[in-house]
Amino acid sequence: MRVHRWLGGAALFVALGMSSVGTALAQAVPQGDTFTLKLAGNETAATADSGTVQFIGTATVLIRYAGLTILTDPNFLHKGDHVHLGYGLTSQRQTNPAIEFDKLPPIDLVILSHMHDDHFDKLVQERLNRNTPIVSTREAGEALKRLGFKQRFVLSEWDRLEVSKGSTRLRVTSVPGRHGAAGVSVLLPKVMGSVLDFGANADTPDYRMYISGDTLVYDDIRSIPQRFPGIDLALLHLGGTRILGVFKVTMDGKDGVQMMHIIKPKKAIPIHYNDYDVFKSPLADFAREVKAAGLDDSVVYLAHGDTYTFTPRKR
Ligand SMILES: [Zn+2]
Repeated sequence: MRVHRWLGGAALFVALGMSSVGTALAQAVPQGDTFTLKLAGNETAATADSGTVQFIGTATVLIRYAGLTILTDPNFLHKGDHVHLGYGLTSQRQTNPAIEFDKLPPIDLVILSHMHDDHFDKLVQERLNRNTPIVSTREAGEALKRLGFKQRFVLSEWDRLEVSKGSTRLRVTSVPGRHGAAGVSVLLPKVMGSVLDFGANADTPDYRMYISGDTLVYDDIRSIPQRFPGIDLALLHLGGTRILGVFKVTMDGKDGVQMMHIIKPKKAIPIHYNDYDVFKSPLADFAREVKAAGLDDSVVYLAHGDTYTFTPRKR
């Protein structure tokens, strides 16, 4: 973010003129690198009869599976607090997190889609244990390094992190995401979506989860279901966030349904809605579009604090 700060309004509009360039790059899908994270765990403790997804607020979700506890995009500020989005822009939180930061269980891994204040806020920057493993973009990794976080796993697109804890296995793969139209996104943090493959064989996972990150729907998104078919659950960052009230940088209700048509998840859970005043598309927009598309049976609506329980396939 900081490196782009010198870019003024003129550069923004030059960049907007280039918005079609990015689509030509969509075809090449290289194999990524593999990194590993071995967590201390009891070899016999893991059971995977079910897993849970608890929605805390914004894009903050607590995922539990067979002794593994994963936290996404930690945001624990309260109603009325402000976040900085760069370029002097701020946004006010409209909701409270369902769990206080101090009440979190021990966290094995944080998955951070990008470094923005509403995804890794100042409270978290100050108080999250410096030894917590965090997987994110290269750009966020640099910021995390400056903040003193020691276990950083920096993934480029299609890179993956193989996580083991006792006999529990998880593979996290970085997949395409882009914060806004091509021209606008160069002024915003790089974003990664992620695919979480739970189970001993990541190629035939017991459960496959996709987390969109703050992205719009664009050509590269189509490569995700090509490489990761059979997604069981998609966590969709909605909100229809508007920067300067004009530039859309996250999916609105209509985009969310378009994303479902592309990803074809068995179930989808909308997150990242109604939490900030820059979120201009309320959850009701998505719900209306879902109904119109006949997708009601594929969507699970979680209020803040609610938990969805999923059942992995038996091997
Ligand atoms: Zn966001």
